[in-house]
Amino acid sequence: MIVMEDVYKKYSNGVVASNGINVEIPTGEFVYVVGPSGAGKSTFIKMMYCEERPTKGNVIIDGVNLSKLKKREIPLLRRKIGVVFQDFKLLPKLNVFENVAFALEVIEESPSQIRKKVNEVLQLVGLTAKARMFPHELSGGEQQRVSIARSIVNMPKVVIADEPTGNLDPETSWEIMNIFERINKRGTTIVMATHNKEIVNTIRHRVIAIEGGLITKDEYGGDYGYEA
Ligand code: ADP
Ligand code: ADP
Repeated sequence: MIVMEDVYKKYSNGVVASNGINVEIPTGEFVYVVGPSGAGKSTFIKMMYCEERPTKGNVIIDGVNLSKLKKREIPLLRRKIGVVFQDFKLLPKLNVFENVAFALEVIEESPSQIRKKVNEVLQLVGLTAKARMFPHELSGGEQQRVSIARSIVNMPKVVIADEPTGNLDPETSWEIMNIFERINKRGTTIVMATHNKEIVNTIRHRVIAIEGGLITKDEYGGDYGYEA
């Protein structure tokens, strides 16, 4: 469960990116976050994984109030939340297997456990055959699959994705969506910021629209609701 209570975020340059946000996202839900550029979508989701802190208000994930989290506790939180970015953010010098294993190695899992878990998630995203390849040898869609595998290898309850299909062609975007659907069906909460109208209007889920730092719409099975 993700809860935001009266969340307000003002950046140091004076921009107010969240202007009083209240929302509840129950476990297992799939939520699209939509809205024009500069509306405050990234800020909204960055506060869920502690990349940004609210100026006022509370962000509570699984009963943990992130506003009260100490800096040294953030890495622990990050293990409970998978994050997927538009630009993948893979480590270029590590191969596919190592990129995914990295998240486990930092928590000192045993080599046999790491092998088991990494192979399991690579299978889920259909990349078993490419485990020894490097990011630059992969297509954009494959790189995004690696990043999704990395985001779920710690079995997080929540996966947060910031425009995960933003750099991908339409066909590849649908494949990536199928993977998110599968992950969601296993019980993982998905929060996804997106500009992909086609996807939002086809694979129906809860739609939260943000404009000017405020939630302007929140509908189950809603549509994208913008022209571009
Ligand atoms: P990310 O890759 O995490 O999405 P951003 O593009 O949001 O990173 O931010 C990159 C850097 O630029 C950060 O240091 C952020 O604080 C800064 N930044 C982002 N947007 C603005 C803005 N509108 N005005 C000033 N600084 C910004
Ligand atoms: P979106 O994801 O909807 O495009 P953002 O949350 O990135 O919106 O940005 C909301 C507003 O906050 C914008 O006006 C943006 O320029 C500003 N902003 C975002 N990050 C920063 C930052 N690190 N420093 C200053 N302003 C920022």
